[in-house]
Amino acid sequence: MTTATTTIMRQHLIDPEICIRCNTCEETCPVDAISHDSRNYVVDAAKCKLCYNCISPCPTGAIDSWRNMPADLAYPLAEQLLWDTLPAQIALDASPGVGAGDTAPALPDDVQQIAAASTAGQGGVAPPPWSAAHPYVNLYSIQQPAVATVSGNFRLTAEDASSDIRHIVLDFGNASFPVLEGQTIGILAPGLDANGKPHHVRLYSVASPRDGERPKYNNLSLTVKRVTEDHEGKPAQGIASNYLCDLKKGDKVNVVGPYGTSFLMPNHPGSNLLMICTGTGSAPMRAMTERRRRKSAPGEDGKLMLFFGARTAGELPYFGPLTRLPKEFIDINLAFSRVPGQPRQYVQDRIRSRAEDVVRLLKDENTYLYLCGLKGMEKGVDEAFADICSRNGLDWKVVQATLLQQGRYHVETY
Ligand code: NAP
Repeated sequence: MTTATTTIMRQHLIDPEICIRCNTCEETCPVDAISHDSRNYVVDAAKCKLCYNCISPCPTGAIDSWRNMPADLAYPLAEQLLWDTLPAQIALDASPGVGAGDTAPALPDDVQQIAAASTAGQGGVAPPPWSAAHPYVNLYSIQQPAVATVSGNFRLTAEDASSDIRHIVLDFGNASFPVLEGQTIGILAPGLDANGKPHHVRLYSVASPRDGERPKYNNLSLTVKRVTEDHEGKPAQGIASNYLCDLKKGDKVNVVGPYGTSFLMPNHPGSNLLMICTGTGSAPMRAMTERRRRKSAPGEDGKLMLFFGARTAGELPYFGPLTRLPKEFIDINLAFSRVPGQPRQYVQDRIRSRAEDVVRLLKDENTYLYLCGLKGMEKGVDEAFADICSRNGLDWKVVQATLLQQGRYHVETY
């Protein structure tokens, strides 16, 4: 089929069968080679530099898909967008080192080094804390999901709040579904999309600690906001969030995962958690806080400092339980943005106002920093850290790079 002079390229693709459309790869790609439509995530062969930054952050491994292709026959984006499954490797004759199987040839040395660096956290994603427990991932697939039973569905926001945020408890019965704080699970909403295909998996952070929402029960909890509008504020019904928020006790839910090997908490005594979140981004912070509360008496372990942003107290998930936690156990800093008659406060404003204590934590090599929630807060928080660091003789870029490299800086924003 090809002549000896044809250039064979290693084309990077994304497996549409496994991909859970979490957008991690698109956010990670430094050259904007990855894009998506409502159906598939795809890689532009003309832009992809094979830097491998996207490989290790992908929770499912869908990103690690390759085909050896004559350069002039590389699959175009328009074709990839229509795929339901990856095409088989085409036969390539007279091309040394290129086989017909699904496995790509060995990586060149320089690429192997980049891939290894990425896995070690010097590339796109931070390694987990050195003392994190071993996470299990991909135990349940779309083809063989775990079936959980809803054992509770409680509204967390005030009755008059604009958002309906729910605490949903799923019981796994006899199925083994081990999760760690910071991991996510995938929900398969029933029904078909506009193309007649099953809905894509939607990811939610686990809001309970590893030993269950109720200790020694085989259950976990999620924090889910009913989505009723899109990012531009136009009316839009979120498929999975509305499905979850409407669930009744006893209903069955198909669950895949768990996912996540990086956004995990340290296990060693004396480790500090600096947690910054907005809205439902509080889910993993609740899981970590509850883990520490169950494990150690107040004041007997490292420090917990939380910055939590919401529109008002009534919109803040877990407001009641949070405010009842002892001060010596957790240092809580709330930022409300829409309280009538009060100036708008964001988490970054509270970080600035607590500069001295935040910098003290940043200087401590036992501090682990977690950021979760709205994508928009990343920039503001970054600026606040840069600001307070420079006023206290630190260079935030250096601090941040060190934190990342040491598995002490974890971000999950959407
Ligand atoms: P929200 O209610 O829309 O916003 C929460 C707070 O953040 C509000 O006070 C808001 O202020 C403020 N905010 C807006 N822009 C900001 C900025 N640039 N910097 C700092 N604060 C800002 O939040 P939400 O709808 O719950 O969103 C939470 C996010 O977490 C979603 O993107 C969700 O996908 C993500 N998440 C959810 C989970 C989960 O398991 N459910 C897990 C991880 C992440 P305004 O008054 O200005 O709006």
